[in-house]
Amino acid sequence: MNLDYHRIKELLGPSAKVVITTHRSPDGDAIGSSLGLYHFLILNGLEVSVIIPDRDPEFLHWMRGHDLITVFESDQEKSKTLINDADVIFSLDYNRLDRIAEMGSRVERASATKILIDHHIDPADYFNFSLSDTTASSTAELVFRFIDSLGWKELLNKDIAECLYAGIMTDTGSFKFSSTSAFTHRVVADLMDVGLVPDKVHNAIFDNSSFDRLQLVGFALSNKFEFDAERGVSIIGISLNEKNRFKYQKGDTEGLVNYGLSVKGAKMAVFLSEELNFTKFSFRSKGQIDVNKIARGYFNGGGHKNAAGGRLDMSLKESINYLKDVIENKITL
Ligand code: 5GP
Ligand code: MN
Repeated sequence: MNLDYHRIKELLGPSAKVVITTHRSPDGDAIGSSLGLYHFLILNGLEVSVIIPDRDPEFLHWMRGHDLITVFESDQEKSKTLINDADVIFSLDYNRLDRIAEMGSRVERASATKILIDHHIDPADYFNFSLSDTTASSTAELVFRFIDSLGWKELLNKDIAECLYAGIMTDTGSFKFSSTSAFTHRVVADLMDVGLVPDKVHNAIFDNSSFDRLQLVGFALSNKFEFDAERGVSIIGISLNEKNRFKYQKGDTEGLVNYGLSVKGAKMAVFLSEELNFTKFSFRSKGQIDVNKIARGYFNGGGHKNAAGGRLDMSLKESINYLKDVIENKITL
């Protein structure tokens, strides 16, 4: 059901207990939209908690309210109690419960009203209310729309603005991707009007790399980068051993896949990152190549037309072989 803002206002009455959830391996939009909504809801005197399935990268920790986030993986009892006791549960930046891992069954069983705010394709029909728009640049942009539609735009403040901007800016590749609309820029203007300083957020997110991280990026680009000029496909794969060698921290390979797509003639880029028992895939594409379809069809994943992810229970080596087989024999680019 689409959002009934009158009903939503009733649900978000002063004593409501609210839980905000977002997807596994949270990114800038996941954390930014969640904390942006958090800062907005606490203004109404609600009891609000943000729960994430697993930890997020350090470059997102500067956001105000971040220290109040509960991590399901490391604090299961507290998370379960919060989820069970909630009147309203928000699902932000994901639209299927398998995207929140073990948390999914807890959320499914909870008696709370479930509200989806998201911009991924094909939302599950399990939510009571949905604000789902695949044309939106980011979930953070949709949280702005949610606040505006409630008629509470005048409540926007600097904390909300910084978090929402972090989500919009990271999910649009700093306003570069085709999902960036005139409305996206208007939202940013409104956020600046309440005190957002964009360069502060850019610095906090992009100019905070460790030396090891840059060495890892350099290593990956010089030694682990394959470009198939005929098909216009870039592949970059990093093993667990290699990550350990460069003291890998969550988030250190963020953005690497974009180098793959920046090669002249590249139409699709794939980044593979080996974990203990599986390999994680990131896909990016240009134009009509639908990596959401590819990720769904062959890599247990999904996402958007030009940016998607997935995972396979294989080593890096097996994954690269499998990927090449898919590219050469199963799909047309
Ligand atoms: P990234 O490559 O940055 O991890 O993810 C790119 C996009 O794909 C994001 O919109 C993300 O939500 C989606 N995505 C990443 N991993 C998965 C996955 O395992 N399953 C699904 N359904 N979507 C994913
Ligand atoms: Mn997003």
